[in-house]
Amino acid sequence: MKVITTKENLNQALLPFRNQKSIGFVPTMGALHEGHLVLVSRALVENDCAVVSIFVNPTQFDNEGDLKKYPRTLDKDVTLLKKLQGTVFIFSPEAEHLYNGNVISKHYNFGSIANEMEGKHRKGHFDGVGTVVSILLKTIEPDRAYFGEKDFQQLQIVKKLVEIENLHTKIIGCPIERETSGLAMSSRNKRLTNEQLAQAIIINRTLLEIKANFESRSIPQLNQLAKQRFKESEIELEYFEIADEKTLKTVKQKSKGKIYRAFIAAFAGEVRLIDNMRLGVFNS
Ligand code: AMP
Repeated sequence: MKVITTKENLNQALLPFRNQKSIGFVPTMGALHEGHLVLVSRALVENDCAVVSIFVNPTQFDNEGDLKKYPRTLDKDVTLLKKLQGTVFIFSPEAEHLYNGNVISKHYNFGSIANEMEGKHRKGHFDGVGTVVSILLKTIEPDRAYFGEKDFQQLQIVKKLVEIENLHTKIIGCPIERETSGLAMSSRNKRLTNEQLAQAIIINRTLLEIKANFESRSIPQLNQLAKQRFKESEIELEYFEIADEKTLKTVKQKSKGKIYRAFIAAFAGEVRLIDNMRLGVFNS
C-alpha cells in the first residue's frame, strides 16, 4: 500500500472509481486507533474504495505546542490500514501542497453551532477544520465521508460546510469507540502516562453519572455535580456543558421534548481530551 502525497497522484488513483463506482472518505490526523479503523471499515463496506487522509492540519490548532507534540506515526498507520479488507488509498500530503502554498484558514459563517464549546475555547479552530475539509472534499469528491461523534460539534460543522459550499458528499456520523475502561479512544491518549490514562476515566464516568441523573436533576445541579467530580480528580476540567443536540446551544433549563447532550473538555497534564454523550429526550 503506497502512501499518496500529491493531489494529482490521488486523482489518478481514483479515476477508475469516478463513474460507476463509489468512493468513501475518512479524514484523520493519523496516529490511528481502533476508532479510526471502525470508520474506515464502514467506508469500505459502504463504498468500492476508501480514501484515508493522514494530515495534521496546522490551521486548526490554536496552540503551537499542541501542534508540535501531536503524535505522528505514519509507518504504523500504514501497517494498520494494510490489515483491512478492501481498496484503501492513503493520502498524506505536505501542508504547502494541500493548501496550494497558502497555509491559512478561510473564514466561515457556520452560525451559532460554531460559537459554543470548542468554538469558544479554541479560537479559529472551526475555520481551520472547515478549510481543510473543504479542500479535501473538493479534491477527493467522495460519495460519502465518515466522521466520529467523538468530535460531535465538528460533525455538525462539517454538515453545515457541505450545505454552505453545496458539495455532493453525504456526511455520515459514527458512534464513539471507547477503551474497555470507557475512555474515548483518541490519538492524544498516546501521550498519556499510565497514571493519567487511569485518571482520565473520570471523563466517561462523569458523563455516565450525568446521564443517569438527567431526568431527576436540574441543569445547574448537573453542572455542579460534574464540576465536583473533577474537583475530586487530578484531571483539570476546561468545560462541562449540557447543550441542545440540534442547536448545540448550551442550556440552563430543560425543555420537554428536546434532546440533550453533555460535552466535556479536560486536561490530563498538558494533554487536552474531549468527550460527549447523548443524555436523551427530556420527558418530564
Ligand atoms: P482525528 O484523527 O482525531 O482528527 O479523527 C479523525 C476522525 O476520527 C474524526 O472524524 C473523529 O471524530 C474520528 N474519531 C476519533 N476518535 C474516535 C473515536 N474514539 N470513536 C469514533 N470516531 C473517532
